[in-house]
Amino acid sequence: MKPDFDVVIVGGGPVGLAAGIQFARQSIRTLVIEKKCFPIDKACGEGIMPTGKQLLTQLGIVQNLSPLHSHPFKGIACYSPKGTLAQTNFVEGEGLGVRRTELSRALFTCAQNTSHLELLLQSKVIGIENCQQKAFVHTDNHKISTSLIVGADGLRSSVRTLANLNGKISTLKRFGASQHYCIKPWSHYVEVHYQPGIEAYVTPSGEEQIGITFLWNQAFYTPPLTGKDLTIGLLRQFPLLKERLQSAKPLDKTQTIGPLHRTVSFPIANHVALIGDAAGYLDPITGEGISLGLLSASLLVKTTSPIFLLQQENTKELCFSQKKLKPFAQLIQEKTRNYYLTTHFALMLSRYPILAEKIMLDFSRDPDFFAHLLSVNMGTAHLLGKAPHKMIQYAFWLMTCRRNLPIKIESRNRFPRQ
Ligand SMILES: Cc1cc2nc3c(=O)[nH]c(=O)nc-3n(C[C@H](O)[C@H](O)[C@H](O)COP(=O)(O)OP(=O)(O)OC[C@H]3O[C@@H](n4cnc5c(N)ncnc54)[C@H](O)[C@@H]3O)c2cc1C
Repeated sequence: MKPDFDVVIVGGGPVGLAAGIQFARQSIRTLVIEKKCFPIDKACGEGIMPTGKQLLTQLGIVQNLSPLHSHPFKGIACYSPKGTLAQTNFVEGEGLGVRRTELSRALFTCAQNTSHLELLLQSKVIGIENCQQKAFVHTDNHKISTSLIVGADGLRSSVRTLANLNGKISTLKRFGASQHYCIKPWSHYVEVHYQPGIEAYVTPSGEEQIGITFLWNQAFYTPPLTGKDLTIGLLRQFPLLKERLQSAKPLDKTQTIGPLHRTVSFPIANHVALIGDAAGYLDPITGEGISLGLLSASLLVKTTSPIFLLQQENTKELCFSQKKLKPFAQLIQEKTRNYYLTTHFALMLSRYPILAEKIMLDFSRDPDFFAHLLSVNMGTAHLLGKAPHKMIQYAFWLMTCRRNLPIKIESRNRFPRQ
C-alpha cells in the first residue's frame, strides 16, 4: 500500500519550504509540517549570498519580495577593530538582504499555490518510526506514513535527535542577537564590524530599514545589559553604529539565539535525510546559512526525485535505505567543505584582533583576493585558485598571533538564551 505521502518534511523554514516546493514540482506527493504560524521570524543576519539569491530566483521567490522588506547588496565591507576598512564586490552578482518574515511569507505563498504539496501547520513532530518499507512521523494528533522523512527543523533539530544523528556537543559557545531599525540603508554592502570577541553585522533589508545582528563568543565577551536593553548594551562596543542608530526607531524586539555550533554524525539514516541547519551548523559569521541550506534542499531533490519517479511506474513500496541516500550525503559533505574552512578562518579573525588587523589591511590593499575568498566560501572558486602564497602567509600570521592570546576575558554574568 502507498504511504500517505512520498516525502514528509519536518520544518517550514526557508529550507524546508524550498525543498517541499521542489519535490512537489516533480509531482512527488509532499507534506511540510511546521510547528509555528506563518510568517515565521527568527534571529538572523538576513544577508543572502548571490548563490542563495540565484536559487531563490529559480524558485520564483525573489520576484515576489516587496522592496519595502528586501534590498540588494553589492558585497561585503569589513571594519577591523581599529577601523581599517576592507570592501569588495561579489564576483557572482548581487546578494539580497531580506526580512525573515518577508522571505517566509513569499515561500509560504508559493508553497500554498503548488500542487502535490500540503502543509500541516501548528503541529510539532514528536516522534519518528522506522519500519522496513516505510517510516512514520508522529505529531500530537497525527501518525503519517511516508517513504522519506526530511529533517529541515533547524539548529535544534528533533529529527536529528530522534534518528540518532547528533554529533559531539561543541565547546564553541557563540550566541547571536538581531534587531531591526527604521532608517534608510547607508551602504550598498553588508557591513561587518569586528571587535574582540564580538562582531556586528548591518544588512540593508528594505527601502527604509536595516537589520543589525551581533555574534559573540561566550568565552571572550559578556553583554553588559540583558533583556530588552541587550542591543543598547551591545552597541556600546560599536560607537560608530551607536551614533548612526541614535535617532532611528527600533522596529521590533531583540531576538536572541545560541549556542550556534551544532554537529551531525551523518546527514542520513534509513528513511531519513537532514537538510539546512538540521544537517549541522558552525556559525553565521560568513553569512552562508540560507544559501547552503537551499543548496542542500536542491541536492536532496536532485538525487532522490529520479528514484521516486521510477517508483511511480512500479507498484512495489519504495524503501529509502541509507544506501539510496548516500549520493546526497556525499554531495552535501563535498559542498559544505569550503564553508567550514572559510568559517573557521573568519572565527579566527574574531578571536585574534591582531590577526584581524593584518588581514583587513591586506584585504583593503587587495580587494580582488577578498572577493576570491568570498567566492571560495560560496563554493564557486577553489581555495588555491588565486594567490596561493597568501594562504601560507595567513597561516604564518595565525601561528604567530596564537602565541599571545590577545583577548581580555571579561567577567561573566547573566547570559541571554532563547
Ligand atoms: C544570528 C544569526 C545570523 C544569521 N545570519 C545569516 C545571514 O546573514 N545569512 C544567511 O544566509 N544565514 C544566516 N544565518 C543562518 C540562517 O538563519 C539559517 O541557516 C537558516 O535559517 C536555516 O534555515 P532552516 O530552514 O534550515 O532552519 P530554520 O530557519 O531554523 O527553520 C526550521 C523550522 O523548523 C520548525 N521546527 C523545528 N522543530 C520542529 C518540529 N519538531 N516540528 C515541526 N516544526 C519544527 C521551526 O519552527 C522552524 O520554522 C544566521 C543565523 C543566526 C543564528
